[in-house]
Amino acid sequence: MKLISGIQEMQLESRSTRSEGRTIAVVPTMGFLHAGHASLISMARRKADVVITTIFVNPTQFGPGEDYQRYPRDLERDYNVAESHGTDILFTPDAPSMYPEPYRTFVDVDSVTQMLEGASRPGHFRGVATVVAKLFHITDPHFAFFGQKDAQQVVVIRQMVRDLNFDVEIVVGPIVREEDGLALSSRNTYLSPTERDHSTILHQALKLAEDMIAGGERNSARIIAAMKSLIDDQSSARIDYLSIAHPDTLREISDLNEHHEIRILVAAWFGVTRLIDNTTVEVRGGNSR
Ligand code: AMP
Repeated sequence: MKLISGIQEMQLESRSTRSEGRTIAVVPTMGFLHAGHASLISMARRKADVVITTIFVNPTQFGPGEDYQRYPRDLERDYNVAESHGTDILFTPDAPSMYPEPYRTFVDVDSVTQMLEGASRPGHFRGVATVVAKLFHITDPHFAFFGQKDAQQVVVIRQMVRDLNFDVEIVVGPIVREEDGLALSSRNTYLSPTERDHSTILHQALKLAEDMIAGGERNSARIIAAMKSLIDDQSSARIDYLSIAHPDTLREISDLNEHHEIRILVAAWFGVTRLIDNTTVEVRGGNSR
């Protein structure tokens, strides 16, 4: 595995890979790699000739007071995880070279960035879209891999790719979970033992919603109320949002009868740590419009 931190060196490498007729897959990450990242790298390995894993804790997607400074970093461990899952190039640019002063250009995706994560974290998706656009220009991939864990991020990136004519196929990997259901996240390391214990309530609430829908419930408000009361019972949990939405647009849905597939999304605080999770549910007997 090659370790590259220079932007120009990465661009030259991608250019020469393409000129040899070989395909490139990129897996953008913020590092502190876990099995969720590893599954994306393995998928990329099966899809393309050259796999680039990027590690960059992107300052522009963190709001003031968020965890940019203390975000976990461990390049040595990341190196081993990336290499053992088939990465060819580990690209690790630094912030001053990604955002040289004076930096003035950002990518703003409209509408789909306004709700959910966008409402709770103003400016977050502007940072995400900007860094992903930059990483696409630098790595020039045929395929880019993202996790369903960040469902809204996938919607935003797909919109950007369409709107800005990026010639990149977006591939989405399933959510990888701990045995007790907690979705893997680099931020799980922040949780105290009690918070870690309580954090499985998010997955349990999603399961509860799935069971209610399987049992015939079609009213979003009732499903959300049941999820809320389950989560509220955990003393360390504080709900940020709960939403039942269209799987592609993430627009809220009130009557499930009108839909064939829906997505349920949750964000909650456990102490100072904010966790997100989601699931897709097929609505039997629902329309496909
Ligand atoms: P991050 O390093 O948190 O920015 O995540 C990098 C990529 O890994 C994103 O596309 C995430 O959606 C994806 N990812 C993070 N956690 C998981 C998970 N538990 N399962 C699957 N993909 C994940």
